[in-house]
Amino acid sequence: MTELQSTPPSDRPRPKEWIAAIHAYVPGKSTGTDGRTLIKLSANENPLGTSPAAEAARHHAGAQSRYPDPDSVALREALGKLHGIAPSHIVMGTGSDELLNLAAQAFAGPGDEVLFVRYGFSVYDIAARRCGAAPVIAPDRDYGTDVDALLAAVTPATRVVFLANPNNPTGSYIGREEIARLHAGLRPDILLVIDQAYAEYVDAADDDGAFVLASAARNVLVTRTFSKIYGLAGERVGWATGDAALVDMLNRIRGPFNLSLSAQATALAALGDQDFVARSRDHNRRERARFVASLTALGNHGLRPLPTEANFVLIEFSGALTAEAAYLGLMEHGYITRWLPGQGLPQCLRVTIGTAEQMDAITAALAQMAGRAA
Ligand SMILES: *Cc1c(COP(=O)(O)O)cnc(C)c1O
Repeated sequence: MTELQSTPPSDRPRPKEWIAAIHAYVPGKSTGTDGRTLIKLSANENPLGTSPAAEAARHHAGAQSRYPDPDSVALREALGKLHGIAPSHIVMGTGSDELLNLAAQAFAGPGDEVLFVRYGFSVYDIAARRCGAAPVIAPDRDYGTDVDALLAAVTPATRVVFLANPNNPTGSYIGREEIARLHAGLRPDILLVIDQAYAEYVDAADDDGAFVLASAARNVLVTRTFSKIYGLAGERVGWATGDAALVDMLNRIRGPFNLSLSAQATALAALGDQDFVARSRDHNRRERARFVASLTALGNHGLRPLPTEANFVLIEFSGALTAEAAYLGLMEHGYITRWLPGQGLPQCLRVTIGTAEQMDAITAALAQMAGRAA
């Protein structure tokens, strides 16, 4: 029998099996079950909004009838200057999302494995499946990244390792030595993608050394985004840096005009307003510490804030008040947070750091619910 004969006829286009097996990304919601608009602390957006300079730039971006600069030259030059990276080692993406997908697509395919930690960013699973590769999950260590477990999960079929640092949805972070140990333990033909979407929020004494690694090694790609601390989630701007050969591959397969006119203009202006970035970082540091302290005080009710270096806190619920009840209760109070049963975390709730007033309200509501449930 030929292959053609063994395939039953179909009355519609047949998707690739691995595409049909994908569960679509579930975005953070902003409306409650009753359709009410809620205060959204479910998508790790910047509670301070956007830099006024970026807002202004949006209105002077240029002629909309013209294609944008396909190479985002001005933006890459500004990024290079800020971070001490040659612009030729920077590739822009429609959000870092596009770059994560392109990295998997360029280096993995059917028969290959793409590795990441349990409770890793949900886009990694989609990125692996999109190109026909098998997602492989390494066990966590108390919700955090376990370098030994990742290295133990490497097989001859491993092509790409994704690591968000800090990680979403856990907030966990590993330092420079651990990242170096992970890299040193990987074969040189395995691409290590370090996703630094929350790097600007990290409070740890040392950064994780990812940029240095990306400039020295031939198998490390670092991704960054304008969606979080720069407050430009709506414009879809991300970037990656790494060896020239890696950047070259991503440039070949990205959308030729992937960054719109307004995306390039607003990101450039946002980059120029580092005061806004500093204010956002200070705000997050202050409110995150306050929120974590209040949650820790609710420890006798079974609430546990997991260690976080990001702009959100993952709370584990092990007492009478469940994560689901807290999620629904907070919705009653007008707040939408992220309950994550779909990611294997039905016992956890992720709360984005909002304004001081919002965090006070959330804290009071959680204390009230925990007290009532006891
Ligand atoms: C939010 C987030 C991103 C950013 O995605 P964009 O496409 O740049 O908006 C990337 N990685 C992680 C882990 C994130 O949480």
